[in-house]
Amino acid sequence: MARPLIALVGRPNTGKSTLFNRLVGWRKAIVDSVPGLTRDRLYGVTEWRGREFSVVDTAGLGLDQNDAQGQTRVAIEEAQVLVFLLDVRQGLTAIDRDLADLLRRSGRKVLVAANKADDPRREYLRSEVLELGFPEPVMLSGQHGIGVDDLLDRVLELLPPFQAEPEGEEAAARLAIMGRPNVGKSSLLNHLLGGERSLVSEKPGTTRDPVDTEIRFDGLPVVLVDTAGIRRRAAARDRLEHFSLLRGIKAMERADAVLLVLDATTGVLSQDQHVASYALEAGKGLVLVVNKIDLLERGERNQAVWQKQMLHEFKFVSHAPVITLSAKTGQGVAKLLPTALEVVGQRRLRIPTNELNRLLREAFAERPPPSYHGRRLSLKYATQANSETPTVVLFVNDSGLVHFSYRRYLENRLRQRYGFAGNPVRLVFRAGSGRD
Ligand code: GDP
Repeated sequence: MARPLIALVGRPNTGKSTLFNRLVGWRKAIVDSVPGLTRDRLYGVTEWRGREFSVVDTAGLGLDQNDAQGQTRVAIEEAQVLVFLLDVRQGLTAIDRDLADLLRRSGRKVLVAANKADDPRREYLRSEVLELGFPEPVMLSGQHGIGVDDLLDRVLELLPPFQAEPEGEEAAARLAIMGRPNVGKSSLLNHLLGGERSLVSEKPGTTRDPVDTEIRFDGLPVVLVDTAGIRRRAAARDRLEHFSLLRGIKAMERADAVLLVLDATTGVLSQDQHVASYALEAGKGLVLVVNKIDLLERGERNQAVWQKQMLHEFKFVSHAPVITLSAKTGQGVAKLLPTALEVVGQRRLRIPTNELNRLLREAFAERPPPSYHGRRLSLKYATQANSETPTVVLFVNDSGLVHFSYRRYLENRLRQRYGFAGNPVRLVFRAGSGRD
C-alpha cells in the first residue's frame, strides 16, 4: 500500500530540515547507529492519527542546495501535498513570492506554514498569505514543536481518503529498481525485459500514475515498478538527479522490494547508503545488486568477497542479499529474479502464534534482559501483526525497559528460525497483556 507523499518546500533557511527531523524523528533511532547517515537524509515515514505517510525534505534533493525553484517543480510533479514554509522573521521575500506563484499555478494541494512563529498567539504573515490566494496558514515553530500537530491535522484533511489498492491479479513480486545515475539501471531493466523466460506487458497507469511493466518469470507475474521513470531518467541523463531520486522513492513506495543497483567500479557512495536506509525505513525488502563486474579483473569478481565487503558498507541492512552481475554481458543476471522473489516470499511468512510465543519465551529464558534500577523487561504475549513488513508485537510489562541490544538479540533469534532474508523485521513493544 503506497503511502501518500508530503513534500516540504521553501527557500533555503526557512527551517525545512528542522521540521523534517521533527516529523520523522521517532523512527530516527533505526539509522542513528550509522555515522553520517542521518545527515542529508531527505526521506522518512511518519504516522499521524493512525495513518502513515512519507515526508520528503526537498532541500536534500538537488545538487544545488539553493535551487528552490527546481526542487519545488520536482515536488509539484510528485507529491500529494506540498507544505510551503515561510520564515516569519524574514517576512515574504521575492523568492517566496516566486515560489508561491509556481505553487498556486500548479493547482496542487498546498499548505502554507509560517515557520519560526515562536509566539503562537500572533498571526504572523497571515494577511500576506491570504492575499497570495492561499488558505489560512499554520503558525509553526518546527524548532520548538509548536503547531506541528495542527500542521499534521491539516495535511490529513488534504489527503485523499484512504483507498485499498485496486483488485487485480496478485503480483508475485513488485520490484523497484533504484540507484544513482549511471549505475546501470536501464541496462539492467532492458536485460530483464529481454530475458528468454520473461514475457512483457506494459501496463499503462491511470492518469498521473507512472507506467509499470509486468513480466512473467517462471510463470509468475512480476511487476517492475515505474519502468517509464527509469527510461525517462536514462534519456534525460544528468539533467535532474533529484528528479530521479524522488521518482525512485515513489516507485519504492509501491514496491515490495528494492533492487538497489551499485557500480562495482566506483564502490559504495553515501547516496547508495541513503537509498538503502530509505528502503529500511519504508519497511521494504532489499537486494544489493553490484553491477558492471565485467569491468573488474577476474579475481575481483568473487561474489563471496563482495558479499563480505557489502556487509561492511551496509551494516544497517545486513539482512540484504548481494548479487554480483553485469547488465552488459548478462553474467550473473539469472540470479537476480529468483533472489528477489525469495525476498518477497519471506515477507508473506506467517508465524503461528503459539510457535512464536514458544520461541520468544525460550529466548527470554536463555538470555534474560538486563535489569534497570532493579526492574527487568518481561514478556507477556507476542503476536505477528498483519502487515506487509514482517512485524512482531510484544506485550511487555514496560516498553521503556527495552534496550537496543536486547531488541537486536530478539531480532536475531527470530531471523535464525525464520530467516526473513532481505527484509527488515520490526519489533513493536507495547505495555499490556495483549489479551484485553
Ligand atoms: P542508469 O542511469 O542507472 O539507468 O544507467 P544506464 O543503464 O544508462 O548505464 C549507464 C552507462 O553504464 C551506460 O553507458 C551503460 O552502457 C553502462 N553500463 C551499464 N551496465 C553495465 C555493465 O554491466 N558493464 C559495463 N561495462 N557497462 C555498463
